[in-house]
Amino acid sequence: MELDIERFEGLKALLNDVSTKTREELEARILEFACITQVAKDVSSTLKLEECLKILADRIADLLSVERISLMLLDPGTRELVIKMSKGLDESIAKQTRIKLGEGVAGWIAKEGKPLLLTDIDKDHRFMKKDSGYKTNSLLSVPLKVKDKVIGVINVNNKVKEGVFKEDDLNVLMAISELAAIAIENARLHEEVKALDNMKSNFISNVSHELRSPLTSIKESVSLLLDEVSGSLNADQKKYLEIAKRNIERLSRLIDDLLDLAKIESGKTDMRRLFINIVTIAEDAVSSFEVLAGNKNITLGIRVNPPVIKVWADPDKLTQALSNLIDNAIKYSPKDSSVMVEVIDKRGVVEVSVSDNGIGISEENINRLFDKFNRLEDAIQNRVKGTGLGLAITKELIQLHGGEISVESKPEEGSRFCFTLPKDLRKR
Ligand code: ADP
Repeated sequence: MELDIERFEGLKALLNDVSTKTREELEARILEFACITQVAKDVSSTLKLEECLKILADRIADLLSVERISLMLLDPGTRELVIKMSKGLDESIAKQTRIKLGEGVAGWIAKEGKPLLLTDIDKDHRFMKKDSGYKTNSLLSVPLKVKDKVIGVINVNNKVKEGVFKEDDLNVLMAISELAAIAIENARLHEEVKALDNMKSNFISNVSHELRSPLTSIKESVSLLLDEVSGSLNADQKKYLEIAKRNIERLSRLIDDLLDLAKIESGKTDMRRLFINIVTIAEDAVSSFEVLAGNKNITLGIRVNPPVIKVWADPDKLTQALSNLIDNAIKYSPKDSSVMVEVIDKRGVVEVSVSDNGIGISEENINRLFDKFNRLEDAIQNRVKGTGLGLAITKELIQLHGGEISVESKPEEGSRFCFTLPKDLRKR
């Protein structure tokens, strides 16, 4: 970001003819210039709107030594200016104030997009004398503009010491407002995106919860029918009920995955970390897939080095992440192939990998592999069941542990999914 030095008439003149001005005066101007840059830097240091506005109000108050300051933002819905941060202003006034475009000084600034310095307050038709207990001698009001669009207004009343605001004060405030507006807009957009994302996660979470109970009762009823509790079934009836059962199970898996993901994304996942041996976790996960691998005559093996590798991790979440990878390796591999799980201590980190000789993944598909609901054409064509959420969840679970996941793969040769975890997160 660059400041427009041309605007600072006084500074320009001083720089042209240093000898005619005192050194102190020159230094004061340079300091002022540095302060403006610092304010812009400070204001941009956060993406939290309230924090951003507070820093801005504090720094302007310090820099210009003012009695009152109010930062107003334009409500995009009502098109009214609302005070979002103030100093030296009665809180109830700040809360109530709503200014329409064109109304009073701030409304005029927002409508015209121009700055204003007023010293002859009483004679100006734009000045509304609402707060009778307070007397304004001089005021500065400047627009907060992003690409010519006014997003708010900064108002400043009265110098703390005697005297009135001068053109130079207005220029300082203008320079700050130009830089601050971008930071404010960024923070505002960031908060909007965060709010939308939260809404989306809550919506998914609520809907999934609501779907769960009726689904459980459908599942139980179908199981009772299949167990012939209410009478014997003919072959066709059994066949159709089996289809229903399989699809109910698929739907349950999808709902569980959606709930898991919504929970992780909204930051509501409880991490129950323990100092555990990750080798045991991997061995248990491998044994729980022996039957599934056996059904396809897949050799499922595990290699570890050394036999005990302690990590500070949530055992259930690690099991879930590793199980997703083993499940995929088996699902996307042909009969009579092999899947190998390796757990290796690499000093500060532990590396866990799952390798298969399955269908593999092409280079252009690797990048979107961890996206939600992403199922590759091969998986769909081969009629392998899945929700397309497993890898997205796995990635989140690994990241919750401060780890990283990567994949190497060649079509028709196989894939190797590998994640690394820091052994002791407490040291991070
Ligand atoms: P799914 O429930 O479909 O398995 P995942 O998120 O676990 O969802 O995986 C996303 C997609 O990545 C899969 O649909 C599949 O196309 C591909 N994939 C995942 N693991 C493998 C693997 N080991 N080999 C080949 N393709 C894989």
